[in-house]
Amino acid sequence: MPELPEVETIRIRLAPLLEGRRFQHVEIHDPRLTRPLEPERVAAELVGEVVAAAERRGKYLVVRFVSGCALLIHLRMTGSFQYGPSGSLQVDPYRRAVVTLDNGSDVVYRDIRRFGTWLLLEPDELDPYLATKVGVEPLTPAFTTPFLRDRLSRRNTPLKAALLDQRTVAGLGNIYVDEALWRARLHPLRPAGAIEASELRPLRRSIRAALEMGIARQGATLRDYAKPDGSTGSMQKEFKVYGRAGEPCPRCGTPIEKIRAAGRGTWYCPACQRL
Ligand SMILES: [Zn+2]
Repeated sequence: MPELPEVETIRIRLAPLLEGRRFQHVEIHDPRLTRPLEPERVAAELVGEVVAAAERRGKYLVVRFVSGCALLIHLRMTGSFQYGPSGSLQVDPYRRAVVTLDNGSDVVYRDIRRFGTWLLLEPDELDPYLATKVGVEPLTPAFTTPFLRDRLSRRNTPLKAALLDQRTVAGLGNIYVDEALWRARLHPLRPAGAIEASELRPLRRSIRAALEMGIARQGATLRDYAKPDGSTGSMQKEFKVYGRAGEPCPRCGTPIEKIRAAGRGTWYCPACQRL
């Protein structure tokens, strides 16, 4: 958490606030956010930058500046944003950074568990960096059945682990992998390389459908995720299997089971998703 739909929801909210605006004042209070670089140095380098676009790659927020530099933000477990007129937001112990924009707004970054990262990259650094970290975007035309076959065929790991690997498909996490596998009727412990050709197209469509549902519901709110205006998403009301151990499968009524796969709690229907 958050996964692609949650990060995309945040991006949709932040983009109109940030685009065209200048970073007038930047405070970064947490050295973990920018390490190994000093937070004061990163803050100083950000001052004066003008935002060209707020984009997303996988679970990364990419703030591109007119200068060509980019700020790559990963929210990890509990990173979130708030915004409001400068000085109007309540200060709390989890505030890690504040960007004051040239229109008098504050964009505040909060992070309870402090796993989030802010990485400032030079113009020629962004694409090579992302290329090593994230694979194809699942909601673009590049995410094809042959691509998925190519990425899964070489692997003996369980399907769940293969799909959690960000280099397989960018942006999937624990929730949306479980939801996609239920839609595709595939057991999370099936070896990735043993998925048959006839199963790949349904899997690709199921991944897209699960993510699109997540975006349409503005993300899932579990624990700490909230949109920058403080409101919450409703995807958690749409979960078919995730977190629903013992409840009936929406398709066949069999109780949902929970196992561990790829080191993560994993929910599936033992009748619809056979090993
Ligand atoms: Zn079922």
